Amino acid sequence: MAIKIILADSAGVCFGVEKAVSSAESELKSSKRVSSYGPLIHNPQSIEKLEKQGLNVINEINNQKGTIIIRAHGITIDEESKLNSNESKVVDMTCPIVKRLQFAVKALTEESYHVIIVGDYNHPEIIGAKSYGNNNVSVIQSIEDIKKLRITTKKIGIVAQTTIPVENFWEVVNEFKKNKELDIKVIDTLCDDIHNKQLEAKEIAKDVDIMLVIGGRNSSNTKEIAKLCKEINNSTYQIETFKQLKELNLNLKNKTVGISAGASTPPWIIKETIDKLMMAK
Ligand code: SF4
Repeated sequence: MAIKIILADSAGVCFGVEKAVSSAESELKSSKRVSSYGPLIHNPQSIEKLEKQGLNVINEINNQKGTIIIRAHGITIDEESKLNSNESKVVDMTCPIVKRLQFAVKALTEESYHVIIVGDYNHPEIIGAKSYGNNNVSVIQSIEDIKKLRITTKKIGIVAQTTIPVENFWEVVNEFKKNKELDIKVIDTLCDDIHNKQLEAKEIAKDVDIMLVIGGRNSSNTKEIAKLCKEINNSTYQIETFKQLKELNLNLKNKTVGISAGASTPPWIIKETIDKLMMAK
């Protein structure tokens, strides 16, 4: 069967994830005991591969020895100081863009702003970034959440989870700006790589029969790309591997298939999916 594939140029790993994974691989070559505090990145297949090379994913800081890598999404200030007081060697692989968010929260707090982070309260990146705000931080997901806030100060600082759609962020900012009594300071902490992925995937989704977004079920940026594409093209599916695509039992005959992938999806999974798709009968 003839399948036409349109692969997004922006699909797959970003520089932050690439750096975290390559640093873990080089630590694994030179050190006997290497752990990551929490999953290094949100891609189960990549983590499985690293675990086979010897990486140990830990969820508690418990006087571990050897090398401990801080994941790309970052951790809280308390966790970081706990790690640093261990006997282990700490390798900080927090993505620089996530660091920028952490520093923005810290700077706004120091300037006495109440910080609003637009994003997912439960995401590790937000739990980490929030800790830089000295309890002076609220997390909201959308403009609907603004009315639930109980803030007494008029100084409002606004930042974003790095991976949310740009429109969601500015919608919240513009809503706050309607209140002329507020002193508002906005720091754009969005990740350009994710923004490009979202834009390109949406463009491709318009023109294809089926849109595939490859990436971990636990990867928020992959879920977000899939959600945006689904709004445009109802035949959008998020898959982690080709096996999951097969299980969907889609009719791919003579179809045009668009492919994008989240920032944690390694190139070998994208390639494997395309190769198997081209050979599918
Ligand atoms: S998606 Fe952006 S913020 Fe997240 S790790 Fe990659 S470069 Fe950093």
